[in-house]
Amino acid sequence: MVPFNKPHLTGKEAHYMYQAVSDGTLCGNGKFTKLCQRFFEEKYGFMKCLLTTSCTDALEMCAILCDIKPGDEVIIPSYTFVSTALAFVREGAKIVFADSMGTNPNLDADAIESLITPRTRVIVPVHYAGVACDMDKIMEIANKHNLLVVEDAAQAIDSYYKGRSLGTIGHLSAFSFHETKNIISGEGGMIGINDERFIRRSEIIWEKGTNRAEFYRGVVNKYGWVDTGSSFLPSEVISAFLWAQLENLDEIQNKRRALWNMYYELLKPLADKGCFSIPEIPEFATNNAHMFYLICNSLDERTKLIATLKDNGYQAVFHYLSLHKSEYYKNKHDGRELPNADRYTDCLVRLPLFYELEPEDVERICSVISNL
Ligand SMILES: *Cc1c(COP(=O)(O)O)cnc(C)c1O
Repeated sequence: MVPFNKPHLTGKEAHYMYQAVSDGTLCGNGKFTKLCQRFFEEKYGFMKCLLTTSCTDALEMCAILCDIKPGDEVIIPSYTFVSTALAFVREGAKIVFADSMGTNPNLDADAIESLITPRTRVIVPVHYAGVACDMDKIMEIANKHNLLVVEDAAQAIDSYYKGRSLGTIGHLSAFSFHETKNIISGEGGMIGINDERFIRRSEIIWEKGTNRAEFYRGVVNKYGWVDTGSSFLPSEVISAFLWAQLENLDEIQNKRRALWNMYYELLKPLADKGCFSIPEIPEFATNNAHMFYLICNSLDERTKLIATLKDNGYQAVFHYLSLHKSEYYKNKHDGRELPNADRYTDCLVRLPLFYELEPEDVERICSVISNL
């Protein structure tokens, strides 16, 4: 069986992890953590980056930094992973779910303004499949209504909007290095901070509410409890693993893009005939080849496609179930219908895409689909 995802090791992960161990500093914020953070800051232009133990953690840090109070409203697409909403719900926020666009699962920027009330505090665009939301529109709405923007860039490493790196445009952003993403450390994540106001506090929240990071830099001569926070930073062993991945970022991305483009070329004729839709990258966005998906015409057609691929030895999967219909949130949702989110819930399917996937497998998967 060819799985839909397989974690790729670049070769030096164990070496750097051993180096971290033999250096004798295993806790966080050491050499490898700093190497990774500097890499991101310099390559992509974040004001500041902090590694976290997951994207969920990074989103929780964002919710704390936004100073969410019970009853504050946060606008989030319904078609996303649980953590996007959960991080804000834990601070007492009311989630106002936005629908996706008809053309792709990103939230519809033109529909945001109708969801804004005097209690709205934050907009959380999710760059689905690493493809940018229309950030100029979103930032303009946010500035007009004095709202914060937190980019859920979990899938969006090495992807751009009009030449700007995703995760550097909103006030804050969150990335994931979960083993299903392009760049991995098993579990892992990062918060990006692009607003001066949040720089100092982010480091304190990261370090259990203490100013230990300032103490390490020699800015203060003792450290103590100064704010809320948690233990959000990963150990050096995790950062060492991540560093080995980052050293090979371009190679990983090139390989994934080549496989993605193969899928696109081979499946385009069927999409043109109306058998299903394939991802279209908007003019303003780049493609980081995080995911190749199809949107089937019905739930039945998707069920059949997944079953047929499975019979041929290929695992294709669907994922998000609209959060406004989730067991946890359905009774708190305001009752608006979100038809596009529901359509992606029923009809979207992800095809296998990982570094070691063979081009022959892509060809075979496409021919199985063609013969449906
Ligand atoms: C993967 C993912 C997350 C969660 O990432 P973790 O690192 O597993 O916490 C959040 N949001 C989106 C959109 C994701 O794809």
